[in-house]
Amino acid sequence: MISPMQNPVTTNAELLARSLSAVWHPCSQMKHYENFPLVPIARGRGVWLYDCDGKRYLDAVSSWWVNLFGHGNSRINAALRDQLETLEHVMLAGFTHEPVVQLSERLRDLAPVGLGHCFYGSDGASATEIALKMSAHYWRNTGKPSKTQFISLENSYHGETLGALSVTDVALFRDAYGALIRQQATVPSPDSRKAAAGESAENYALRCAAALEQHLQQHHVQLAAFIIEPLVQGAAGMAMYHPVYLRRARELCDAYGVHLIADEIAVGMGRTGTLFACEQAPPLSLTLSPKGRGNESSDALPSPVYGRGVGGEGITPDFLLLSKGITGGYLPLSVVMTRDEIYQAFYADETARGFLHSHSYTGNPLACRAALATLDIFAQDDVLAANRNKAAYLNGIAQPLSEHRAVRNWRNTGMIWAFEVLGPHRDFAQRCFALALQNELLLRPIGNTVYFMPPYVIDEEEMQLLVTRTLDIVEALA
Ligand SMILES: *Cc1c(COP(=O)(O)O)cnc(C)c1O
Repeated sequence: MISPMQNPVTTNAELLARSLSAVWHPCSQMKHYENFPLVPIARGRGVWLYDCDGKRYLDAVSSWWVNLFGHGNSRINAALRDQLETLEHVMLAGFTHEPVVQLSERLRDLAPVGLGHCFYGSDGASATEIALKMSAHYWRNTGKPSKTQFISLENSYHGETLGALSVTDVALFRDAYGALIRQQATVPSPDSRKAAAGESAENYALRCAAALEQHLQQHHVQLAAFIIEPLVQGAAGMAMYHPVYLRRARELCDAYGVHLIADEIAVGMGRTGTLFACEQAPPLSLTLSPKGRGNESSDALPSPVYGRGVGGEGITPDFLLLSKGITGGYLPLSVVMTRDEIYQAFYADETARGFLHSHSYTGNPLACRAALATLDIFAQDDVLAANRNKAAYLNGIAQPLSEHRAVRNWRNTGMIWAFEVLGPHRDFAQRCFALALQNELLLRPIGNTVYFMPPYVIDEEEMQLLVTRTLDIVEALA
């Protein structure tokens, strides 16, 4: 017998109590829910989430950076209904299906040129694991088994499973598991907030690239890959940096024979203004070509890859990771895209040379179908152009907020805005979260960094509400 969902009509208080007794919530000290209660959500529509008592909240963080086109999107819903009636799931080892094939073909056509092969995982962290394993396995298959180390940027975030945590530089997530993690080195983050007084974001990024070069020079023999969050380090507090760093990272990784892994789990799918953040790397310029050409590593990758045409804009990483927005925020799915040459290094008669990694739900048809519907919306609605107008509108109305006496480092990349709030900081994040809820906003500050990462369907009236109420909240807390 099919049991109906228990008490589908419930109150906030009821749902909250039942959740606290049976659910262990992620990223939480459960005891803190005594003082800062959970938010029970009954339904969603567009940018709005509604609790069980009918109160609404503007989802300004896109439900942890995943939602692109609103909750209850009719086009994604229709695609999923259709897929439900066709095929809900089949294993991908030894089997294939239309949604996964179409998605792989379309991503190959849209992504930086050269990323011809899609490997699927279930979530962001599993994509990181796959890329790290694939990179080291590539070097093993090509006769360089010493290349097993990784580097990441300071304050990097690439997920929280043990392998991903080894390239995640967030002490709070890491310290308890130090003994379980293979420590990896970090290199300075080009985070433009860290530039010296009077130093441009670009010059600071170049200075960090010089530090990267030094590290590569010393350690490339052991290094498999350098993993970065292109343009915006999300969990670091929406740390934004100059795109010249991407160009230099690509050049240096080529010169020293180290893979470049672009973790676009948060920044991909249009979030930074282009479909992929890697597209924004500036063209190769002579003054910036790698120093020390001629004494670079003998590991140098055979053919430097420079994105859309040699010398053009954008870079092609060796691995491109997507998750979060890929399904429009509907279902867990991740993709690791990689270059032909890497794929070929695994293609052989021996089983052990193959990439034997798997997850039960790899390439789930429903998730792929949600991703296809998401790509359809990008194509049909000219989303990137519409987002440019929305971003300009929000920047226009945000002046009283960006110039508030307690606001520092107001910054914007594509559909991400962030700023720091000065003032008494004890429990700032929780107090801001709670006050925002009272003001119909879902804001989830990282430390004293407040950020907006709204669904792309946000309209002008909603942006106005977001900005004016955030100003009230800042005024109240500063
Ligand atoms: C969220 C995120 C991850 C991890 O994704 P999960 O699905 O939460 O495991 C990895 N990298 C970046 C940049 C992220 O923002």
